[in-house]
Order: sequence, then structure tokens, then C-alpha cells
Amino acid sequence: MIFTRDLRVDDNQALCAAAAEGPISCMFVMDDQIANASTASHRRQAFLQQCLDDLANSLDDLGASLEIARGNWSEQIQNRAHELQATNLHIADDYSSYAKRRLDHLGNWCASQNIEFQRHPGVTALPPGDIQPAGGGEYKVFTPYWRSWLTAPKRPPLGSPKTLRGIDAAHTSFIPQGSRRIEHSHTDLVGGETHGLERLKHWLRTGVHQYEEMRDTPSIDGTSLLSPYLHFGCISPLRLVELSRNVPGSEAFIRQVAWRDFYSQILNARPDASRQDYRNRGDEWDYDDDVYKSWVDGTTGFPLVDAGMRQLRAEGLMHNRLRMVTASCLIKNLHHDWRLGADYFMSQLIDGDVANNYLNWQWVAGTGTDNNPHRVLNPTTQAKRFDKDAKYIRRWIPELSDLSAADAVDPSIAVRQETGYPLPIVDHHESIEIFKGRRLANASKKPS
Ligand SMILES: Cc1cc2nc3c(=O)[nH]c(=O)nc-3n(C[C@H](O)[C@H](O)[C@H](O)COP(=O)(O)OP(=O)(O)OC[C@H]3O[C@@H](n4cnc5c(N)ncnc54)[C@H](O)[C@@H]3O)c2cc1C
Repeated sequence: MIFTRDLRVDDNQALCAAAAEGPISCMFVMDDQIANASTASHRRQAFLQQCLDDLANSLDDLGASLEIARGNWSEQIQNRAHELQATNLHIADDYSSYAKRRLDHLGNWCASQNIEFQRHPGVTALPPGDIQPAGGGEYKVFTPYWRSWLTAPKRPPLGSPKTLRGIDAAHTSFIPQGSRRIEHSHTDLVGGETHGLERLKHWLRTGVHQYEEMRDTPSIDGTSLLSPYLHFGCISPLRLVELSRNVPGSEAFIRQVAWRDFYSQILNARPDASRQDYRNRGDEWDYDDDVYKSWVDGTTGFPLVDAGMRQLRAEGLMHNRLRMVTASCLIKNLHHDWRLGADYFMSQLIDGDVANNYLNWQWVAGTGTDNNPHRVLNPTTQAKRFDKDAKYIRRWIPELSDLSAADAVDPSIAVRQETGYPLPIVDHHESIEIFKGRRLANASKKPS
């Protein structure tokens, strides 16, 4: 059994199938290609390590151990399969172009060795392709996807195996250097299935009923903070749906979880969508080191954008509303390529996820699945709407923390001079007009 992004014993189809076949060896490989990428994040790595510790304990309780290796993913698995004279390999299916290549490569090797290779659903509630629009292919728009997702038959989640017949293997857990401590203020956000399920149950008891009203206010804990657990598969998305289903107020929450499935089916159909425009708008981008740095550092002079970027750097997390506002600023006000911002997010986020991150960036850029590709998010209007008491801005921007809400949300030139908070790096309206003009001009040039 090869674990990847399904780090749980509950509702794990691959694990159950492997266990049904006889003695089992469980393995996770820390893939050098992922761990050494420029988009790797030490916080995500630390969270992953906690997930692995928790999984190792759960497997231990069931009678098996978790072997953790590091290096070339395929080679490590092949070596171990060879040593064990494995007859079957079970694994969760996955949808990014890299995951697909890695799986195909291993599958081909298994075929050459007469090893049966089985890919099981596991990272989404509904596997890509389970529902399709009338004309076939993937759903390109969320609302019809959601309608059909809601009524689609879903298999009942499996329990955890009662017991496992483990093949003896030393538990070679390793701790990547310097990554044990997760530097974010949510100290209760500890990786692993045990914590993930506790968080989910607590959320369903205490938070979900107010989700619809609270989910857009970044200064309060109005969302579940389950995204890192879902990313690493500490919680089965199907289990989440099952546990949430009859809880009052949960539909809006389940709808967001269905966005994960929606983006996975897009990525499955178009694995290049993590690098290429899903809908090509013919954009040409600027690049300016100082401008990019001011966005990264949170010194653009747009308080809500700067607060979001400073939270991201400090915590490796950012509220969804802020992800939209900061991404929109980089793309539509500062005219920088969505890929650049998406890569930076990946390098910081604890929940960094190929499908969710890159396709949400494309949504904001208007190159993705948004029905309205000309959507504009004015950072000042957004602040007045979603942070009107400036609690979030004042928390993350110390220069503005002593000001009145009105001054912190939209500081005047005089206030900026007094506090040392910078002037806006661009004029919002002017920069949007330039963006729109360029997009229009480039769209007419692009080959059809
Ligand atoms: C530019 C941008 C980048 C993003 N990058 C990521 C990322 O790397 N990883 C990631 O998990 N989410 C990403 N999101 C989606 C969303 O912001 C986070 O899932 C959410 O903020 C996580 O907080 P939560 O768990 O409290 O969410 P909740 O509001 O409690 O939602 C529950 C779950 O639904 C899923 N979900 C919620 N919103 C979305 C969405 N828009 N798209 C897909 N799934 C969603 C998540 O798994 C989330 O945990 C991004 C959004 C934007 C606009």
C-alpha cells in the first residue's frame, strides 16, 4: 500500500483493498522532486510530518507499520516492491500532471514485473469523470456541476480496517531539518487524521451553522480551517460530506467542498491548467522586481491587500476573501502573471494544493472557470465591505493599528505621511482601465 495524499485509515479504499489481499506493507515516499521544488513550503512539510506520525500510530494500532523513504519516488517504491516480491500495489489516484506521470511510470513498471497495479479513488468525494455534462468531457462551470454533484449517487464511506497483517518493516520516520515547528498562530492546527477528525466534529457542533453569514469576514474564525487536512487526505471528503449532511446550515459548507471536486475534474481533464491558461485570453504580462516585491511584502499601500500578504507570510494561511483580493491586485492592478502569484502562494501555504491553488488563481485572472472574466475587485471597496471595523487590517498592519476603522480601511495621504504607511502603488481605477484595454487588444490579436 503506497500512501500519497490519503494519509488516513478511515474510508481509505486503497488500504482496504490491499488489506483484503493478505499481508501488507505500508509505505510513504517523500518525493525529492516535490520536497526540493521552488514551490515547496516548510510549513506544509512540517504539517505533512505530523500527518505521517499520526498515520504511523494508527497503522501500528492495527498491526502494521509505516515505512517512510525519501528520494526518487518511483525508484524507492520499485526497490521495496522488488525486495518484498510484491504481487499487488495499491494507491490512491491523483490528477495533477506530475501525479499522473508518476503514477503512469510506476504502473508501466508494475506491468513489466507482473505486479498488479491498482489506482483507487481517494482524494475527492466524487472522482473526476463520475459526473459529466450532457456533451461529455469536464464541467467548465461550477453551478451546473454543483447541481449534478448534489444528486449524484455517492458510495457509503468505508470504516477503517479492523486489523492489518503487517509485514515487518522498521518504522523509519524521519524529520526534515528545521521543519518540526509550524510557524503560524493557529497552534492547534496539528497535522494528522486524529486532529483532522476532531476539528471536523468540533466545527460541525459549533461553527457550521453560522458559516453562510460568517465565511466572508476575515477577522473572525468563521470557516472550518480544514483545508490542510483535506489536502493531505487526513479526512476523507466523503466522510466529511456524510457527517455534515444533516447538520443545520451545512449546505453552504458542503458546496465549498464540492469546489475541490470541481477543480480536480478540471485538472484531470486539463492537467496543463496548472501552467497554461484554461481559457486563453492572449494576455501579456509586465514584470517589475520592485512592484512584485511590494506585493509579496505587503507594502502596496492597499491596506486589505497588505494585511492579507502579511498574514500569508506570518502564518502560511490566508482567508479565502483575502486570497481573491490579493490575487486580483497582483493580476489586475499590477499586471503581473497569475503563475507568479500562484507559485508564491504555493511556497507559503500550509494547504497549498495544485488544483485549488492554480485554478483559483485562474478564476481570479479571468482565464479560468469564472463566468465573468472581467470581474474587478476594488481592494478599498472590499475592505469597506468585508472588514468595515478594520479588525483584520489593524491586526496585520501595525502602522495602522491605532487608527480609527475609517482611517485604517482607507487612509488619507495625511494619515499615510503620519504613520509611514505607503501611498497606493498604483491608482486602482487607472490600472484597471489599462488592464482591460490590454486584454481587449491582446484578445483580438490571439489566434482563434
Ligand atoms: C487565489 C486562491 C488560491 C487558493 N489556494 C488554495 C490552496 O492552495 N489550497 C486550498 O485548499 N484552497 C485554496 N483556495 C481556496 C480557499 O481559499 C481555501 O480552501 C480556504 O480559504 C481554506 O479555508 P477553510 O478550510 O477554512 O475553508 P472553508 O470555507 O471552511 O471551506 C471548506 C473546504 O472547502 C474547500 N474550499 C473552500 N473554498 C474553495 C475554493 N474556492 N476552491 C476549492 N476548494 C475550496 C477547501 O477544501 C476548504 O477546506 C484558494 C483560493 C484562492 C482565491
